Amino acid sequence: MIFMSSYDMEIENVIKQIKKHEAKNVGIQFPEGLKTKSIAIADEIESQTQANVILSGDPCFGACDVSDSKMLGIVDLIIHYGHSPLPLKYKVPTIFIEAMANIKIHEALKKSLDSLKDYSKIAIATTTQHLNLLDEVKDFLEDKGKEVVLNSSKTTRKGQVLGCNFSSIKNLDAEVYLFIGSGRFHPLGIHLFTKSPVILLNPYSLEITNIKDFADEILRIRFARIVKAKEVKKWGILISSKEGQYRFNLAKEIKKMLKDAGMKSYLILVENITPDILLPYLDLGGFVVSACPRIAIDDSLMYKKPLITPQELEIVLNKRKWEDYQIDEILFHERYEKIN
Ligand code: SF4
Repeated sequence: MIFMSSYDMEIENVIKQIKKHEAKNVGIQFPEGLKTKSIAIADEIESQTQANVILSGDPCFGACDVSDSKMLGIVDLIIHYGHSPLPLKYKVPTIFIEAMANIKIHEALKKSLDSLKDYSKIAIATTTQHLNLLDEVKDFLEDKGKEVVLNSSKTTRKGQVLGCNFSSIKNLDAEVYLFIGSGRFHPLGIHLFTKSPVILLNPYSLEITNIKDFADEILRIRFARIVKAKEVKKWGILISSKEGQYRFNLAKEIKKMLKDAGMKSYLILVENITPDILLPYLDLGGFVVSACPRIAIDDSLMYKKPLITPQELEIVLNKRKWEDYQIDEILFHERYEKIN
């Protein structure tokens, strides 16, 4: 059977890797958006190899969360779909399949020209699934006389941004940023880091949007959260047990900052942060998240008590000005620096 998908699931490569590793048990992990493909992929693997497939049923949103610790001793190999590898130590051999989107972008690019007409130097950025489109985007814009800039970083590939890492777009000195993708969080992050205009080109809906209105809406919500957080005297500091989101040093710095401000705080280690797991902490007025920076912002409305990022706590404690608001970032290459 030929596996059909709007994403390149690289099934032949996956089969080849499983045979090469002589894997008897293979763990397969998908991000939420690709989980619907899991049964078809499992069927392909089990029909073409001798391996048993174990699907990871847990939620997964990034390569920060490979299920290697959970699958250690169970599988010989993990196939992790939808993300690029991060500079992390994985406990089980892991093959990353980026699942690039099979999508045409020419029409959307033509449509974006009107929004880009006043700019000559354009930075381009995207998420993992659309990295394969960047050469075409660059060639198209250069043909129209634009200067196009893009960069890589210690954590990300050329032109790639993560929801928690924007290193590749810093210092590009562009007049405008063109983001290719369907989500609004990444272009929001680019806007907040660069303070420059960001145009979102959605290659699926062909919509071209300036992220400014969304950024203003999010900033209004964050401001309200920060004002509410100023009343909190007893805090929970959430640490994630996920390999790439674990920032114990940061959590301890936050605890010290709160102590210096005369407040009590408690370190809480958790795998998945959800409203339910915070319910029993009746004594705590709010939480600072040292885990994935998207949790506090994307899921904000699900939480009754303030759930804020470390940078937002600095604003609460008057250590940072509101005008210097920034999205939290994870510097994965620093993950294994000394933990005291
Ligand atoms: S920490 Fe959050 S934003 Fe960063 S890679 Fe993981 S899931 Fe994505």
